[in-house]
Amino acid sequence: MPKFKLEYIWLDGYTPVPNLRGKTQIKEFDSFPTLDQLPDWGFDGSSTQQADGSDSDCILKPVAIYPDTTRINGALVMCEVMLPNGDPHPSNARASILDDADAWFGFEQEYFLVEDGRPLGFPKGGGYPDPQGEYYCGAGFKNVGDIARTIVEEHLDICLDAGINHEGINGEVAKGQWEFQIFGKGSKRAADQIWIARYILVRLCEAYGVDIEFHCKPLKGDWNGSGMHANFSTKHLREVGGKDYFDKLMAAFEKNCEEHIAAYGPDNHLRLTGLHETQSIDQFSWGVADRGASIRVPHSFANNDWKGYLEDRRPNSQGDPYQIASRILKTVAEVPTS
Ligand code: ADP
Ligand code: MN
Ligand code: MN
Ligand code: MN
Repeated sequence: MPKFKLEYIWLDGYTPVPNLRGKTQIKEFDSFPTLDQLPDWGFDGSSTQQADGSDSDCILKPVAIYPDTTRINGALVMCEVMLPNGDPHPSNARASILDDADAWFGFEQEYFLVEDGRPLGFPKGGGYPDPQGEYYCGAGFKNVGDIARTIVEEHLDICLDAGINHEGINGEVAKGQWEFQIFGKGSKRAADQIWIARYILVRLCEAYGVDIEFHCKPLKGDWNGSGMHANFSTKHLREVGGKDYFDKLMAAFEKNCEEHIAAYGPDNHLRLTGLHETQSIDQFSWGVADRGASIRVPHSFANNDWKGYLEDRRPNSQGDPYQIASRILKTVAEVPTS
């Protein structure tokens, strides 16, 4: 029987942004294992800010498995962290997402590739490259630099091989800034895949001496920050919708504005300034095709009797997609559908 290398991956207890952790377990299976064949495992929570040394055991409960073609017989196993009594650990935001197979999310993850603390493509000796303008979806050494595209292409292939549902990638507005989009049906699926895609990316970059900067505003001055727009829809939004329901939904989003911001990633006041295609952090607004609004309503939504999906533009690149999906579905659940 082949021996499989199972990389159990979880989120640690650091705040406000959890780190990805992973360790390998070797197990024999006839063929690539299914989720229900995978045993729970444990780790030392005192090394991850999830437990005291005197009572350090935390449980890893597998919740999704993906092939890992970078290793022979490899698998990436996303896990929830549980307490020894079987309850979710307080750091386990995934467990707080309402189960809904008909909730769909599409996240647009922006990030910077950095080397020695500076974005890839910034002059090595210091100083700045040309101002923003030609980098977005750009090509050529002067716009993209030398190894950035190699990295993002390799990342894309590893993710696609793993079954991650990438919808696309593009070079972003700032030099060294990139984006990938992941879409998933089911309230937890896209969030699981964002975390696995982040894991694959940071691990891939080790060999290049490159780090990923997920912070939402790593560069001062006239350089774009990084977001993670959350596109979402429910069965009701897609199939029933209507202006009346939409208005009630937006009223609930406005009422919960602070709770949403709290779940949307740290330091967002640096990014949500009202400039660079954002709404200010302390204001809530929606608008058809409006990239300066908190929530952008696609033309396709307004023209289809207010049915379809919506884009919450506030979540940032460092946000935890579990907390984001959880908060959005909580607010949606506050609004009666009839
Ligand atoms: P932008 O102009 O903001 O970059 P995109 O068209 O690139 O917009 O991204 C929109 C995203 O919306 C897609 O990547 C997809 O994942 C997501 N999306 C499309 N339809 C739905 C839907 N019905 N429910 C949830 N998300 C959706
Ligand atoms: Mn996009
Ligand atoms: Mn973008
Ligand atoms: Mn967007």
